[in-house]
Amino acid sequence: MEKILIIDDSLMQARYLKNILAGNYKVSLAHTASDGLAYAKTGKFSLILLDVILPDMDGFMLLKKLQEELVTEHIPVILITGLSDTRSEEQGLILGAVDYIVKPFNPLIVRARVNTHIKLHQYRVQFAQQAMEDELTRIANRRHYEQYSISKWQEAARLKTSYSICIFDIDKFKVYNDTYGHPAGDQVIASVAQTANSFLQRSTDFLARYGGEEFIAIILGQESEEVFSHFKKIRQAIEDLHIEHSGSVSPWVTVSMGGVTAFPKSDDTYDAYLKIADNMLYDAKSLGRNQVVWSNEDMIQWKERG
Ligand code: GH3
Ligand code: MG
Ligand code: MG
Repeated sequence: MEKILIIDDSLMQARYLKNILAGNYKVSLAHTASDGLAYAKTGKFSLILLDVILPDMDGFMLLKKLQEELVTEHIPVILITGLSDTRSEEQGLILGAVDYIVKPFNPLIVRARVNTHIKLHQYRVQFAQQAMEDELTRIANRRHYEQYSISKWQEAARLKTSYSICIFDIDKFKVYNDTYGHPAGDQVIASVAQTANSFLQRSTDFLARYGGEEFIAIILGQESEEVFSHFKKIRQAIEDLHIEHSGSVSPWVTVSMGGVTAFPKSDDTYDAYLKIADNMLYDAKSLGRNQVVWSNEDMIQWKERG
């Protein structure tokens, strides 16, 4: 059930609204602006009904604050007020309220408007998710990766923490498609993604489909040797799926991985490190595939085999 937050200092008014909506939604109440803001940040609400006149802050100000917070900026806000002058209605809409309801209101109309805005919110959320997700594997897509990688790079530079990039690619995959068919190939891509993803579940881990049969992972805040070991485990887990691949370097589907662990400084360019990860992948391929090759920023290398 979608959640709605009503912020209104009048208890009577708030309860009246809640009764109108409670059949279809999970409704929470806040009676001051500061409580409202605090709830809004934690509550995962799909809509906020906001009274313009509150004891501790005017509703327009609160609306502005909601839009400045990353966690609340996407929540649509409907303003509710007794002010019927068009100036304040205009002000609310300019500030980004999605709608405006003037007291006294008709319950049926309030319910209908709320339903509409909830539906629009659901579409937006679904659209935003789809735009960031790879359809086949359900992990992040290239677009999501582009956004994530750069913003986290800057964050890591600020926090002076390490940033690891791993690029990995399925071995002899052209031969796989030629032998077992393209639909079976798609299945393999999905299985490889799912397996890698199960090892990258921390909030500081990220995995995306980079291209056709190529993936990219980012891990924040760990030592190079630690990350190298972790990706060796992932590589092994993929081999251990024992998906038959007769034309490759092993009887099974395998991947080659190349990575780098760096400490971003603000003047370092991300692309230079990406290039190192790519070179390590190239080395892993040349050294016989089905292995991980890692580098730190001083170009000291770790090789899984030999
Ligand atoms: P290597 O070990 O050097 O990586 O060899 P490879 O054959 O995997 O590399 P190459 O880049 O020559 O071929 C990649 C193949 O991956 C070719 C392409 O048809 C296949 N591929 C790319 N995207 C998809 C996809 O979405 N589905 C399927 N089934 N195959 C794909
Ligand atoms: Mg490739
Ligand atoms: Mg390949």
